[in-house]
Amino acid sequence: MILPGSTIGILGGGQLGRMLAQAAQTMGYRVHVYEPQKDCPAGAVSNREINAAYTDIESLSAFARDCDVVTYEFENIPVEPLAQIAGLTQLHPRSEVLKICQNRLREKTWLRKNEFPHVPFVDVDTNGDLSAAIDSIGFPCVVKTADFGYDGKGQLKVTDEESNALAVKQYVGQRSVVERFISFQCELSVVVSRSSNGEVKAFPVSENIHTNHILDFSIVPARISEEIKVKAEQLGLAMAERMDVVGLIAVELFVTTGGELLVNEMAPRPHNSGHYTLDACRVSQFEQHIRAICGLPLGDPAVNSPVVMVNILGDTWFNEDESKTPAWHTILENPTGKLHLYGKAEARIGRKMGHFTVCASSADQALTAARELKSKL
Ligand code: AMP
Repeated sequence: MILPGSTIGILGGGQLGRMLAQAAQTMGYRVHVYEPQKDCPAGAVSNREINAAYTDIESLSAFARDCDVVTYEFENIPVEPLAQIAGLTQLHPRSEVLKICQNRLREKTWLRKNEFPHVPFVDVDTNGDLSAAIDSIGFPCVVKTADFGYDGKGQLKVTDEESNALAVKQYVGQRSVVERFISFQCELSVVVSRSSNGEVKAFPVSENIHTNHILDFSIVPARISEEIKVKAEQLGLAMAERMDVVGLIAVELFVTTGGELLVNEMAPRPHNSGHYTLDACRVSQFEQHIRAICGLPLGDPAVNSPVVMVNILGDTWFNEDESKTPAWHTILENPTGKLHLYGKAEARIGRKMGHFTVCASSADQALTAARELKSKL
């Protein structure tokens, strides 16, 4: 067990690192953050911030030697340097987990090989025939780059010959996947924790609404049958075990119009759709991750109240062409509203600047209140 007073290293200094650092410090750990960009959100709340490239083996090794355990909050970290520091400290989740989850092709191939339900796909090599792959899946389909894709980045929906031609032009020479476009009833996610001693626990399943491919609302409890919720939880737990994850793994799922569950993607870290746990659960996803990587007993993930989480994007700072200060008082005045801001200096369109939650006596009521608060920001 890695006990409070020890030092936890976090690779990546964004908002997930910030909330991890805050949870770790609450429990009495020291936190070091490693992030290429200066003055990052996590650095502002940590004991030490190191600014160096992920490929700078010397700095990375020195960082690893100073920490009792190292984890990461960001998926696009090159895996090779991580594998090199693995002998210097404990690294959780192990670098092989990151390698699978950071690339859509490896992720989907892993799902197929391990027989977890997933969206049907075809792999397209760098000099492969994208047109043939699109033909084999048929319209409508989605083309996604294998690397560096998240929040809809690097993906294009293909519905006809025109978008087909555009995809062929846009993706030439890139490793990509073509997958079936799924008509879904709703999107879900489940955040699962697995400790270094093998204990596993799932947070309640969240129902997620995306706008322009970016998470907009997370609703708990998800407004679907108990049977689907249980299935989603069991799927997440089985995946965490099969992948031998220590820490958290978030699994994003589609519920098809036919009621089938299909995995869209996974992330081996705290997840945006799990932010509701900070205000509505006995233990947050961030504390749970710290407990898991330190080998402590896992906390109780049960939710205390129906809750909705809303992302606050940089867009909120702009009113037509004018910039403005968002009307924070609307959230602050609400007795069940909770505001979280990540301390990012510059608001940009599409940038995640913060989030808020609102609790109510039902998911529908919380969603109505959340939509109203959002519209007044
Ligand atoms: P991703 O970057 O893969 O997480 O995609 C972002 C969002 O795009 C998802 O949450 C869905 O709303 C949508 N999306 C991605 N892939 C598909 C698909 N195959 N079928 C339908 N919608 C999709």
